[in-house]
Amino acid sequence: MILKIVKYPEPVLSQPGEPVTEFNAELRKLVADMFETTYASQGIGLAAPQVSVSKRLVTIDLSMGKNPEERLVLINPEIIWSEGRVYEDEGCLSFPEIREKVVRAAKVRVRAQDEHGKWFEMDGDDLMARCMQHEIDHVDGMLFIFRMSALKRDLALRKIRKMQRAGEW
Ligand SMILES: [Zn+2]
Repeated sequence: MILKIVKYPEPVLSQPGEPVTEFNAELRKLVADMFETTYASQGIGLAAPQVSVSKRLVTIDLSMGKNPEERLVLINPEIIWSEGRVYEDEGCLSFPEIREKVVRAAKVRVRAQDEHGKWFEMDGDDLMARCMQHEIDHVDGMLFIFRMSALKRDLALRKIRKMQRAGEW
């Protein structure tokens, strides 16, 4: 089922998600729906708050559905190590048409649980590192516009207000 992706400034996007404690069929259905929603939107990652579920759950697939083995589910994720700094373009399904440069660590190590509650660690670099940081920010209630410079953030917010007025947001 394709879920509705909420846009900024929907309040759920700015709230830290609740930890996931039940690893049941309902959770696995939500995970499946989140992947389906991401593919339908041609995204590479999605966090549960973006579909109005205030939980610490992230789905990532850099292949955009082309390779099932690349599906990554991060539940209750935490960045436990990071290295380097990169400044590159980033977008967000909750901010359609906004793309801006954001500083991120170049490499990260994430600790998370899988759909069955099993803890694991995973390293990411390049696009994976960026996507992990962006999505884990979402479950903390942090949005990428607040990682932009003040100037770029003002420009983005102005563009959003303009689109809102035109009924395009
Ligand atoms: Zn996002």
